[in-house]
Amino acid sequence: MEHKLYGILGHPISGSLSPIIQNIVLERLGAKYIPFDVKPDDFDTAVAGLKVLSDGFNVTIPYKRTILRHIDELFGFARDIKVVNTVRVKAGRLEGFNTDVTALISLLKERGLKMAGLSCLIVGAGGAARAAVAALKELGCNDYGIFNRTPQNTKELIGVIREGGSSAEEVLPNVDVHKWNILVNATPMGMYDDDSILMKIQNAGHFSLVIDFAYKRGSTRLANEAGDAISGLDLLIEQAAQSIKIWTGLDPDRRAMRGGI
Ligand code: NAP
Repeated sequence: MEHKLYGILGHPISGSLSPIIQNIVLERLGAKYIPFDVKPDDFDTAVAGLKVLSDGFNVTIPYKRTILRHIDELFGFARDIKVVNTVRVKAGRLEGFNTDVTALISLLKERGLKMAGLSCLIVGAGGAARAAVAALKELGCNDYGIFNRTPQNTKELIGVIREGGSSAEEVLPNVDVHKWNILVNATPMGMYDDDSILMKIQNAGHFSLVIDFAYKRGSTRLANEAGDAISGLDLLIEQAAQSIKIWTGLDPDRRAMRGGI
């Protein structure tokens, strides 16, 4: 019997919940989703292997931009922000998508939230931060503050946001957060109880919405303390469901996926 193969490439990968939630759906379809912990030196070889062996795969830290050199065609928001988390293998070609962006848009729309006139404080300046900006801008947000550990990365993201026609400024620690309506944590802080920097700048109860990309079983401290939150688990499940739709055409049951963790 022939099994379809899917997977996720990252380093490290041991903490990822993706294999659990993906396999709840994919194993029922006779497929298998496997985590691949790939060191940077082996990345190109691993992608070449999956191009032949798999029908698609996810990429996660630190490869969401590295994968671009292998992609034959970018679609949707992946084309806009040059960050890919989902690859479809089709007729020997690699197609790149970004379901982190589309997942956040779906979850914001489900809540009926309009972003026009609101301002957003983003912690982080990597792939998740870019995904958050793309999603929030799609819903009308045009005012961003960026708080990040490495100033050079902050500057780069501010440049990208301004090029897109929105306003953006650097935010420093211990700033008064009352100016901002929405808080996004687009760093791993909170996943491993290392959220001290995050806690320095945030007062979660103040924000009308907190979006936390960090996830763990149960809930992060940030999502817990927020009045209204889109949690990292909400995002993880939605982006996984949308990846499955890209690969198989099926729109999976999110509740069944959540039930597995
Ligand atoms: P990335 O491109 O590598 O960027 C990581 C960002 O986090 C950078 O801004 C980095 O700051 C910052 N950072 C990393 N470790 C930190 C620390 N210990 N203290 C302070 N800042 C730190 O990664 P990414 O793709 O943006 O992902 C960020 C997080 O979101 C990851 O934990 C990832 O698992 C999570 N994520 C979750 C979902 C979901 O579905 N829930 C989707 C996408 C991403 P520097 O600029 O200083 O390096």
